[in-house]
Amino acid sequence: MTYQQLVTFSQNRLIENNLHGGFAFRLMLEMCELKGINLYMDKDTVISESFAMEYSANIDRLLLNEPMAYVLGFEWFFGRRFITDSSVLIPREETEELVGHVLADIDEYFGESCVIGDVATGSGNLGITLKLELPKSTVVCSDISGDAIETAKKNANNLGADVTFLMGDMAQPFIENKIKCDVLVCNPPYILFSEEVQTSVLEYEPHVALFGGEDGLDFYRQLLDEAPQILKEKSMIAFEMGFNQKENLTKEVVKRFPQATIRFEKDLNGLDRMCFVYFNCN
Ligand code: GLN
Repeated sequence: MTYQQLVTFSQNRLIENNLHGGFAFRLMLEMCELKGINLYMDKDTVISESFAMEYSANIDRLLLNEPMAYVLGFEWFFGRRFITDSSVLIPREETEELVGHVLADIDEYFGESCVIGDVATGSGNLGITLKLELPKSTVVCSDISGDAIETAKKNANNLGADVTFLMGDMAQPFIENKIKCDVLVCNPPYILFSEEVQTSVLEYEPHVALFGGEDGLDFYRQLLDEAPQILKEKSMIAFEMGFNQKENLTKEVVKRFPQATIRFEKDLNGLDRMCFVYFNCN
């Protein structure tokens, strides 16, 4: 059987099980790249038995609804490969957009040598990316999960990012270590307990990284309460958020910081997905 034939065969298996057929090609492409095989050149070459078995075992995992990023063991984020295992949330495209906006704001208000805190870092995707894009910055990342911190450290090592990781609940490790930030970035768990979630997400991704209480805003409230202790006078917070949380999140921010400037940004799908809170940035 050739590479192409195995992809076509597997595509049909996925489609028969109501899954996206395109996963078969993506999986083959990524696995070939890891092994230094050029799929476009070799698609009509006979595939080795061991590779075919490895690939088919991965297709079996996809058939059980396991997300591609866990099957592959990595996800791309801002052009870099991040290890993803069941201890961390899979980095999402929307979160890449958050990075873009934060980079623009840092350029405008703080300059490259700023101190950045990434709260609830998960795989480390936000903090590590910002450090690699802004080598002169100082980046500190926190997460409540020791396993997530281990994975994030591996990512920082692999990608050559000099970032500090602290284990603890939201901003607590920053408070304990008396760290003062110019910029806080945070993609907290924001799914409502009552919200319907895709099976692949619910069954495989860590619930501690997904759910944000009754209204999904528990961790925003917590960080907004903690923020004054770890922010410099001129500073900002950049949050990712759920598409329907704009109104309620505005209330939470205004209640605590009536003087702050709030800005929302839409993602590429046209949904309100990012919230920026500015303190004395003029
Ligand atoms: N910071 C990580 C991300 O943006 C993890 C977020 C989380 O665990 N909720 O993907």
